Amino acid sequence: MSDMNAIDEVSELFLGGGGRQYGGEAVTQLAHALQCALSAETEHASPALITAALLHDIGHLTHRFGPRPAARGIDDRHEQGGADYLASRFEPAVSEPVRLHVDAKRYLCAVELGYFATLSPESVRSLELQGGVFSTAEAEDFIRRPFAADAVRLRRWDEQAKIKGLETPDLAHFKIYMAKCLKQ
Ligand code: FE
Repeated sequence: MSDMNAIDEVSELFLGGGGRQYGGEAVTQLAHALQCALSAETEHASPALITAALLHDIGHLTHRFGPRPAARGIDDRHEQGGADYLASRFEPAVSEPVRLHVDAKRYLCAVELGYFATLSPESVRSLELQGGVFSTAEAEDFIRRPFAADAVRLRRWDEQAKIKGLETPDLAHFKIYMAKCLKQ
C-alpha cells in the first residue's frame, strides 16, 4: 500500500461515517476525532500519538454492528477492530495506544479517585459493557504493558472531546502527522 493510500483511506472513512453522531454524545464522529487530535497537538504529543488520538475510534466506522451498538447493549469491540485496521497501515505507536484506550478507562477508574465522576453517562454505560473497573491487580498489570501510558493520555483527551460546536482544524491539518508514522 502506498503512503497516500492509507491517509486517503481514513479520510474516506470519515467522509462516509464521520457525520454520524458519536455514541450518545453531542458531537459527530469527525468532530470527536478532531477535538481529540487537537488536544494531543496542544499537549505536544508525538506525531504518532496525535495520529492515534485522531484515529482512536476508527473502529466505530469500520465495524458492522449498525448505529449506536452500546445503546443496544452491544460492545462493538471498536478498540480491537480499530487497532487491527491501523496496525496494517501505521506504526505500533499509533495502533497500540488505540488498542488499549478502552482498558485505559478501566484503569483510570481503578487508580484515580474522582475519575469515574468525570465520565459522561454514555461512557459509564459502555464501561460496564467493556468489563467494568479494573481490580488493583489488573490495573498494575495494565500499566506495565507497552504503550499503556500513551493510552492513558489518549483516554483523557477522548473524554474531553465531546464539546458541541468547538472550533478545530480540519482533517487535512492532521495529515502531516499521519504521514510521519505510516507503516514502512
Ligand atoms: Fe473516543
